[in-house]
Amino acid sequence: MADVSLKHVYKVYPNGTKAVNDFNMEIRDKEFIVFVGPSGCGKSTTLRMIAGLEDISAGELKIGELIVNDMEPKDRDIAMVFQNYALYPHMTVYENIAFGLRLRKLPKDDIHKKVVEAAEILGITDYLDKKPKEMSGGQRQRVALGRAIVREPKVMLLDEPLSNLDAKLRTQMRAEISKLHTKLQTTFIYVTHDQVEAMTMGTRIVVMKDGFVQQIDTPKNLYSYPANKFVAGFIGTPQMNFFEGTLLKTGDSVAIKFDNSDAEITVPYSLLYKAKPAYLDGKKKVIIGLRAEDISLAKENIKNSKAVIKVKISHKEELGSETIIYGDINMEGDGYGESPTRVIIKDGGERDFSAGETVEAALNIEHIHLFDKDTEQSVLPRVPEFNDVECEVKDGKLSFCGVELELPQAVKCEDLKGELLIPTDAILFDGKWKADVVSCENAGGVNLSALRLNGNRLYAVSTEAVESKSVKIGIDFKKITVVSEGEEKISPMPQTNGFPCKFVKKKTRELAEVNGKMKKKKIVRFGFEIGDAFFETTDETSQKIFAALGIKKSFTAALRMECGADNLSVSEVGIAAEAVRTLDYGTEKYLACAVGDNTVYVKTDKEYSGSICLLPDLAQVGIVETEREIKII
Ligand code: ADP
Repeated sequence: MADVSLKHVYKVYPNGTKAVNDFNMEIRDKEFIVFVGPSGCGKSTTLRMIAGLEDISAGELKIGELIVNDMEPKDRDIAMVFQNYALYPHMTVYENIAFGLRLRKLPKDDIHKKVVEAAEILGITDYLDKKPKEMSGGQRQRVALGRAIVREPKVMLLDEPLSNLDAKLRTQMRAEISKLHTKLQTTFIYVTHDQVEAMTMGTRIVVMKDGFVQQIDTPKNLYSYPANKFVAGFIGTPQMNFFEGTLLKTGDSVAIKFDNSDAEITVPYSLLYKAKPAYLDGKKKVIIGLRAEDISLAKENIKNSKAVIKVKISHKEELGSETIIYGDINMEGDGYGESPTRVIIKDGGERDFSAGETVEAALNIEHIHLFDKDTEQSVLPRVPEFNDVECEVKDGKLSFCGVELELPQAVKCEDLKGELLIPTDAILFDGKWKADVVSCENAGGVNLSALRLNGNRLYAVSTEAVESKSVKIGIDFKKITVVSEGEEKISPMPQTNGFPCKFVKKKTRELAEVNGKMKKKKIVRFGFEIGDAFFETTDETSQKIFAALGIKKSFTAALRMECGADNLSVSEVGIAAEAVRTLDYGTEKYLACAVGDNTVYVKTDKEYSGSICLLPDLAQVGIVETEREIKII
């Protein structure tokens, strides 16, 4: 029973393959986590790094309270179950299960008790005297599970354990493994390429592709709120329908036009409040995603829906309880091959349809998904990143959504009409503008409030749930962007400063007490060098650098120290900088400084000019190896 924490974990194989990139996850005790994705996406590599069977190229891996990067697999208190069972063929089932315990020299009686107990849990008591070759695949995998559970590990790791079994047995074993998890109350991490397995077993699922985590979420949230087209298409059968098209907002409604088809519907804008405004211009291409169950051929639904399109039926698959109907929204299309106009519909079977028939279909727009055609990222996110509203600046005052406020000195700009981007985390709840709270939902760890400010919709995220009916809001000017005539007139203050640096070893002679006498003693110190400044590192930090880069490369690699403005201070000693100007954001002040060619920002209450020194808070900084952009700390 343990938490498992992965921070900035990377795997680069000696041949240069970057199998895992910046994997970050806090796995809580007793969770059932599934890593899923197509072959080669890096899921086994990640599991093998947790098991200790593969070195970690960079990052920190913790099991319980211990950093285990360099710990031998046998000391990690984990047990692993493999696809190929890895049983000893010459041993009986009993001996196979007991083997690890015998190695650990447990008393015979204890071993016997544990083996019998495990066999009972797994229903293989009658097979204890048999050899693996006398057993079926499913039974062998039970033995492998038995061998893992008698070790009473803190974490169970399972690598495609059911892949060698036939479909029926897989379904049965899936249920048994879930039951085992409930019974053992241990953290499970399970690797599979099968999304159904992932969806039915995981409390949370990590979807991976090409070495990158795409999304980490509960099965339900992955299904309802996929972050990108890949996740949307990977989760759920039949696969989500994807069409290309455009969205045009006019007043309170949005026209959704499907490409290569006459299909066009008009829906109330309120259904698409969260859509990024840039995509509502009628020109920018989007991918429209609709699941097969969100397209209905039922008469009642068509009668009540305003989102009806025409579909030419091509063929169907009868599955007994439901029918899968294939068709095309292009009347010239054939609905057989995958195409941007092919449509798959799950139908309750109200009536029969024949091939070639043209029918009406109602779309459930409440469940529509929209993705950027190029990046394939969702443009209708569950938690919007920005509020995008029209604004005007006149005589140093900014007006938007019917309110007017004085621009602080840091962001003063000329008169203009343009677009204001307010990140959802830049809406503050201690301002002076009264807004109604329309709703507040807990969405993936943050609280998302929908607000109405003088009739305009704004979204805000907060750590605390908002329970009142109305709030007084303000905005964090550090984070806003104003664009006018294609030019950025107000830019957000960068959230982090980057300092190019090197990791160095310094040898000095210092006075120290040796056998009661003060003597000059050789001292070796490790630290980061930025210009002439040296910052000694703790042993733990030095170890992380060595572990990530190897001893030799640690001293030659180009690094970048990343430090937020709030974790940097002006000091007597430190990084040499020139104070450029003070930025007054109203309640907070920052100092913009030049360090070499870079501008960095420091939070401060005082005014400075000329040469100054900057001191980073070493406990809060990040270190990146710049050649491969690997976050080491
Ligand atoms: P998955 O388990 O998702 O199928 P893996 O973690 O096994 O994927 O592999 C991820 C990537 O790393 C793949 O591109 C694979 O070819 C590569 N890879 C795996 N093992 C090695 C290795 N020992 N040396 C070099 N590349 C490897």
